[in-house]
Amino acid sequence: MELRSPTSRLGFFLTVFKIHTFTTMDHEQHLKASKLPEVKTTIFTTIGNLARKHQAIDLSQGFPNFEADKKLKSLLNSALTAGHNQYAPMQGYYGLREIISEKIASLHNHNYSPDDEITITVGATQAIFTAITAFVGKGDEVIVIKPAYDCYEPAIILNGGIPVYVQLDAPDYTINWTAFQNKITDKTKMVIINTPHNPSGTILTKWDMEQLENILKPTNIILLSDEVYEHIIFDGQVHESASRFPELANRSFVCASFGKTFHVTGWKMGYCVASAELMAEFRKVHQFAVFCVNHPVQRALASYLKNPSYYLYLNNFYQQKRDFFLEGIKSSKFKCKPAHGTYFQLLDYSNISNDEDEVMGKRLIKEYGIASIPISSFNVGNRNDFMLRFCFAKKQETLEQAIEILCKL
Ligand code: PMP
Ligand code: GLN
Repeated sequence: MELRSPTSRLGFFLTVFKIHTFTTMDHEQHLKASKLPEVKTTIFTTIGNLARKHQAIDLSQGFPNFEADKKLKSLLNSALTAGHNQYAPMQGYYGLREIISEKIASLHNHNYSPDDEITITVGATQAIFTAITAFVGKGDEVIVIKPAYDCYEPAIILNGGIPVYVQLDAPDYTINWTAFQNKITDKTKMVIINTPHNPSGTILTKWDMEQLENILKPTNIILLSDEVYEHIIFDGQVHESASRFPELANRSFVCASFGKTFHVTGWKMGYCVASAELMAEFRKVHQFAVFCVNHPVQRALASYLKNPSYYLYLNNFYQQKRDFFLEGIKSSKFKCKPAHGTYFQLLDYSNISNDEDEVMGKRLIKEYGIASIPISSFNVGNRNDFMLRFCFAKKQETLEQAIEILCKL
């Protein structure tokens, strides 16, 4: 049996110590190398978890708590049993691209070729990430209008780009196009817009889109138009898609989501349309990020989309929910501007409390049993607008329970 000398014991110690020091340093190095040092777990996850813990009425994350149409679900069953269970084409199932092309032509009078101008994606999130990755590189500036949905900036930063902010002011959240134009430099590669707008519920009018068209005309700037709430727009207004404006359509990626339109956010299915030149670059990234997306779901959606009434009824459907919610809280201390689109309503709580919105949001969950999204995390520098965002894509009884709580505050 070999007896260890004190020196070999010291050696053993040092080896262990060295390994320990090395692993600690290594971990620190990894942290230093984080590509998104400022990014935390999303507000939707943290608030959602808190809402579940306190069994609060959940009007926070945007998803319907009612079921999708039986017909759509049975089309998915049929696609599964018919054996569409292997990879779809990289660009998406042709039948679905074809029907999307027809839909956009009939609604916005722009023809996108199913062959090389439409790609089916894993929700709008992947479409947005892919478009940014395909074009934004180190030092490129991307104009982001704040408050903004939270997936734009991390994608820009991961690609070495620089977000340049245009902050809108509560309660109107309208764009001052001169202020917007002043942000454009020779480094501006892309501009991101979102209409109808999450979280403010505002929409861009024809006049807004014309301003944007005039500003971008003399430039090579690419437009990324997030239009996931295209079919949720109220009071007889029209969704002014970037596809309707030839000067914009030629330079745009328009991103859409079946999740919002057909009450199936969990299916994570969306699409992106763009000119053939832009789309060719998009597909170079898409084919290595996901290659293709869920095949049977694409088959089901292709059949379902043949009947436009399945999406054209939505404006009315959600307008009734908005109106029911607003009528219900009329006697409360909240102030608001009715949403023009989306299934979100911002409520100003400044008559109730001076708390920061994150504090107020958490108090409402813990003390009153209702969950909403504080919008500071969508603003520049977490600016506090004293606004909470409530999702009204909920069953009548859920809205009734929410109204009862909100009126007590
Ligand atoms: N953009 C906005 C403005 C959204 O609200 C959402 C909702 N999740 C998305 C993009 C992402 O859509 P999807 O769930 O289809 O990825
Ligand atoms: N779009 C949804 C919302 O704004 C959230 C989706 C998500 O959780 N990332 O509430």
